[in-house]
Amino acid sequence: MRISTAYDAVVVGARCAGAATAMLLARRGMRVLVLDRGQYGTDTLSTHALMRGGVLQLARWGVLPALVKRGTPPVRTTTFHYGEEAIEVAIKPGSGIDALYAPRRTLLDSVLVDTAREAGVEVRYGMTLADLRHDGEGRVIGAVALDAEGRLNEFSTGLVIGADGIGSAVARLARAEVTDQAQHASATVFGYFAGIPDTGYHWHYSEGASVGRIPTNGGRTCVFVSVSPARYRARILKDREAGFHAVLREVSPALARQVVTAPLDGSLLAFAGRRGFLRQAHGPGWALVGDAGYFKDPITAHGITDALRDAELLADAAVQGTRSAFARYQATRDALSRPLLDVTDAIAAYDWDLQQVKSLHKVLSQAMKREVEYMLARDAGLAATQEAA
Ligand SMILES: Cc1cc2nc3c(=O)[nH]c(=O)nc-3n(C[C@H](O)[C@H](O)[C@H](O)COP(=O)(O)OP(=O)(O)OC[C@H]3O[C@@H](n4cnc5c(N)ncnc54)[C@H](O)[C@@H]3O)c2cc1C
Repeated sequence: MRISTAYDAVVVGARCAGAATAMLLARRGMRVLVLDRGQYGTDTLSTHALMRGGVLQLARWGVLPALVKRGTPPVRTTTFHYGEEAIEVAIKPGSGIDALYAPRRTLLDSVLVDTAREAGVEVRYGMTLADLRHDGEGRVIGAVALDAEGRLNEFSTGLVIGADGIGSAVARLARAEVTDQAQHASATVFGYFAGIPDTGYHWHYSEGASVGRIPTNGGRTCVFVSVSPARYRARILKDREAGFHAVLREVSPALARQVVTAPLDGSLLAFAGRRGFLRQAHGPGWALVGDAGYFKDPITAHGITDALRDAELLADAAVQGTRSAFARYQATRDALSRPLLDVTDAIAAYDWDLQQVKSLHKVLSQAMKREVEYMLARDAGLAATQEAA
């Protein structure tokens, strides 16, 4: 066993939740180590559309310019298609944002890791969390990770942060309880196509299925289809490509015609679905952020946005370091997240008609607005505190 020197925080997971949290902690003077079993710059299963709250966070942290400079196209309109009806919504400029973005995860996660490193974070890839160390009273005081050579490494720390995704090892080892469980899970199949004109985000709905297109880096468009697990098993599982095109033709014949002649970059990717949840967000010496603590169905494309929100809420709590600060983190995360989790679950149920899903989108839009307003109000509060000081 290799024993390292101590860190103020050890973050497990080096993607949007973990890299962002680590960066914010280091900017506040903490000595931070990030461990990830994967490698720098790799892709992950995600259609990566950012909503306003996510773009706002990247802009506030000074990360957005690097994504724009590296060719992430601005999205200035979102069009909702309910059957034949199309409703185009322009992205309202405000709070320093005049567009949305959908950077590939190879880019977003790398830029966040680069920014964390610039802030002083140590990042080690090829390190798989194997265990947590506890003191005699059950407080987490360290993390044990297996390196690529099969050696165990022990890192002592005052705080282990699980940013290690849906199947979080930190959550399992810390015995984090599931506090809320969604009822539905949709399946998603997506791919990257060249040559499709960039006209912003498009979300299309028909009863029992939805499809969408998301412009991203390298002139590619991410095209996805989403269906219930039963439809996925019946129509897509045996022949992914045929099933993907069949759902596209059913929901948006116009998009299906564009996609059928567009070159596919790589292959179609599939996510069979998983019900959303909220887990207990903290305990003695540990905390969770991102999907590790709060996952919801991808149909509302909001996981990264919420991960970036919670990175900041958790960083604030960790800097204060008190039990009540962590309790406030969980309370705020849950208050902002429950409406999003519930409405996402209702959309993922695929038991709605077009009028009903339109109403659900209004509820979703209100929940997203509240989230943005909350983050902006925090800024105003911080500014007032600074002026007073
Ligand atoms: C099909 C699909 C489409 C989606 N589309 C969107 C979308 O359009 N917009 C959106 O906002 N969200 C979307 N999401 C959700 C979004 O991808 C997640 O919310 C987001 O990836 C969560 O980020 P994270 O950093 O919490 O976890 P992850 O991205 O899962 O990263 C976890 C990291 O932890 C590491 N790790 C795991 N276990 C260990 C271990 N034991 N030891 C060391 N390291 C470990 C992994 O290697 C990984 O790098 C989608 C999700 C899916 C499945």
